[in-house]
This record gives sequence, structure tokens and C-alpha cells, in this order.
Amino acid sequence: IKERLLKTVGQNNYTTWIEPLVPGAVEDGIVTLKVPTNFFGNYVSQNFSDLILHEINATGTDATRLNFALNQQPTPAAEKPAPAARQTSAAAKPAANSQLSTAPLDPRFSFDNFVVGKPNELAHAAARRVAEGGPVTFNPLFLYGGVGLGKTHLMHAIARELHERKPEMNVLYLSAEQFMYRFVQALRDRKMMDFKEIFRSVDVLMVDDVQFIAGKDSTQEEFFHTFNALVDQHKQIIISADRAPGEIKDLEDRVKSRLQCGLIVDLHPTDYELRLGILQSKVDVQRKTYPDLEVADGVLEFLAHRITSNVRVLEGALTRLFAFASLVGREIDMGLTQDCLADVLRASERKISVEEIQRKVSDHYNIRLSDMIGPKRLRSYARPRQVAMYLCKQMTSRSLPEIGRRFGGRDHTTVMHGVRRIEELKVSDGQIAEDLELLRRALES
Ligand code: ADP
Ligand code: MG
Repeated sequence: IKERLLKTVGQNNYTTWIEPLVPGAVEDGIVTLKVPTNFFGNYVSQNFSDLILHEINATGTDATRLNFALNQQPTPAAEKPAPAARQTSAAAKPAANSQLSTAPLDPRFSFDNFVVGKPNELAHAAARRVAEGGPVTFNPLFLYGGVGLGKTHLMHAIARELHERKPEMNVLYLSAEQFMYRFVQALRDRKMMDFKEIFRSVDVLMVDDVQFIAGKDSTQEEFFHTFNALVDQHKQIIISADRAPGEIKDLEDRVKSRLQCGLIVDLHPTDYELRLGILQSKVDVQRKTYPDLEVADGVLEFLAHRITSNVRVLEGALTRLFAFASLVGREIDMGLTQDCLADVLRASERKISVEEIQRKVSDHYNIRLSDMIGPKRLRSYARPRQVAMYLCKQMTSRSLPEIGRRFGGRDHTTVMHGVRRIEELKVSDGQIAEDLELLRRALES
């Protein structure tokens, strides 16, 4: 992995930041890397984590997150007087003695860095509200949404903000997985009293990815009691999950109903404008590392258009673009983008379905879907039907017989005839050509 990273980050970055990394454990997608200082870890996390995750994943290891831990034995690189070496001992202490220390908050995840758009404005507003640390009005705040839509980002932002505004508050952020781990460890070490004590003395408890405890009965039980104890004391609880409480399978009903009694807000999938906004803000961040690199017009729009799955992938793509561009000394233009992101672009190619095409085409011609698929032979149905068949052939990987089946069980020769007819009309009939262009664009967006 280091060898591959050398190719992407260049010799200088490699020697300074990548070479000294010492691999540690891989656990549930979290890869620990040992670093000589906290500063070093932060820098690598901010500048190379997507690249590193990308390369780890490329080897077949499932990695979703990097965790930086201080290296106790100095690595050869750390023996050189690194600029931040003095931080080591000082920074190592709180982690060692604080009972509440959890995953360190990611410095990138602040409200300042969170781009707000239609899909996430409610979640953002709710997060802002609890981050004020005022009297508890909704409990719990339950944030849910698909992977990479910003749940963890918002939770870290809340924790940071609370920390700044109300340093006296005891804020505990952890993943549901860490909650379980600590619970199991407390059971094993017969330290349940301490465990309860810690969790019941916090002012704000944040549990990320709570779906993780589904099906884990004793952990759920303990979570339920912790939850109730805190709610009784009017302490704020913030929970995230990948779906709504009612939809988490194997979660006890009493836990579900507890989770449902606060404010539930979801993060919707990103739209084009939000993705573009996020890209623009991430370019500003990259600029700090690569002040000389320009991004050509159209590149961000292209990425926002093509990479729709998840913000993490979008960010990773951008990081890679900058790293590649600086390595090969080229401008970030469409050519470089295509070269360097071929795999990402291929993976995110949108699969267009026959049903989607049928729906769009019937809408476009203002006819009923059932009439378009059905047996009617009227020209006003037959032509749209042929257009839809043509688009299915062009835009999906379905075979002619498969397409025929989905158009009311028609024969593949009928489909072939329809496709040919449209191919002819595309040349001779301006209206059809225009319809096709409009439909294609609508389907690809
Ligand atoms: P989740 O926890 O929902 O899976 P994360 O919070 O880990 O997602 O977000 C994935 C990545 O996308 C993070 O690097 C995060 O900073 C970034 N991200 C997501 N939404 C936004 C946003 N609205 N503005 C800026 N960055 C975002
Ligand atoms: Mg998350």
C-alpha cells in the first residue's frame, strides 16, 4: 500500500507523511495507524486519509475509517527531530488517563465545514439547536440517513461546539460499537458499577450508528437503561442510525419507542446543488495543500453530476485528483479527471432501468404507462413505445427478448423492428431527434 501511495503523493509527501506510518489493527473496518505525534496524525488525516483508505480498499481489505494512535516506540522517522515531536508526551497523557476518552473528534467535522442544502437543512438546524447546549427540548435527537450523508460529521460538530461553548459540560461521543465494546469489557472485568457511573454522569450522550446494537440483546438492554436514566435527568441524547427507528430490524420494541419519542430528522440523498457546493468547499481545503493547482471549468460540475452515491466517494475523488495532478504536474481538467478517476466513474455509472425509461417516455408523450406497454396499436401509443424500446436498447444492458418481455410480452423481432424504425426517424424526423435528446438527458440526470 505504501508503494502505491508513493506513486500518488510524490516522493516528498511520501517521505514526510506516509513512510513513518506504522500499521496497527484492523477492526470492523477501522484501520489503526500509529503516528509519532498528534499533529502528524491530524495532518495525515486531513490530507491523505481518503487516499490511504482508497488504497487499502483496493487490496480487498474493507476499510471505512482510519484511526490514528500515538506510537509508543519511536519509529526511525520520529527519531529525527520532527517539528512537532514535543507534543508527543503531552498529547499522549489525556488519552491514557481520561475515563471518558473516546474516538478523537475529527477536526474536519465542524459546522463551518458542513455545507447546507435542501436535503440536509432540517438535520443541520436540529444539530445546531442541540449544539447550543440550552435546555433540552427534544430528547433524543435522532438523525438518520444513508451512508456518507453527514451523520457522523454533524455529531462531531455538535460535540465540538458544545465543548467550546460549555466546556464544563460532560459530552460523550461514541459509536454504538464502542458502547458495546465497553459494556462487554466492563462485564468481563467486573466493573459494571464504573460503567454505569460513567454513562450516567454525562450531560450529553451521543451514540453513532445505533443500528449496530440490533440483535445484541444484552447490549440493547444496557443501552435502554442508560438511555432512560439520562432522559429522567433531562440530559440530552443524540443518536444516529442508517435508517428510521421503526425500520431497524431486531431492535426491541421498547428501545424503538424510546428512540421515537424525541425529534427524528433524516438526511436525504444529496442533490446536484448540494454536491457542487460540497465540492467547492472541499476545493478550498485542498488549495491549502496545493496552492498552485487550478481546477478547470466544468470539472466540479461533471463530478457533481456523475458521483451521486455518497459524499465520501465524492471527497475521495477530489483528493485523488489533487494528488495525481500534483504528482504529474498537470492541470485538473477533464482529461486528467477521466484518466485518474476511471474506476470511480465506472463504479458510479448510473444503472438506468427499463421501468424508469417507460415512465419517463409515457410522461413525455402524455400517455398512460399501461397504454404504452399494452396491446394498442394506435400510432399515438406505438411511436412512444418504439421510442422507449429504442432507449432501453441504448441505455440498458437488456437484450431484445428481455425488453420485449417487459413491453407486455412482445416478441424480440417486434423490439428490433421498433429500434430500427426509430434509428431511421432519428435522421429524418427532427421532432423525434429532439424528443430522444430530451429524454436521454432527463434519464441521465
Ligand atoms: P455518515 O456518518 O452519514 O456515513 P459522514 O458524516 O462520515 O457520513 O460523511 C462522509 C464524508 O462526507 C465526511 O468526510 C463528511 O465530512 C462529508 N460530508 C457529508 N456531508 C457533508 C456536507 N453537507 N458538507 C460537507 N461535507 C460533508
Ligand atoms: Mg457515520
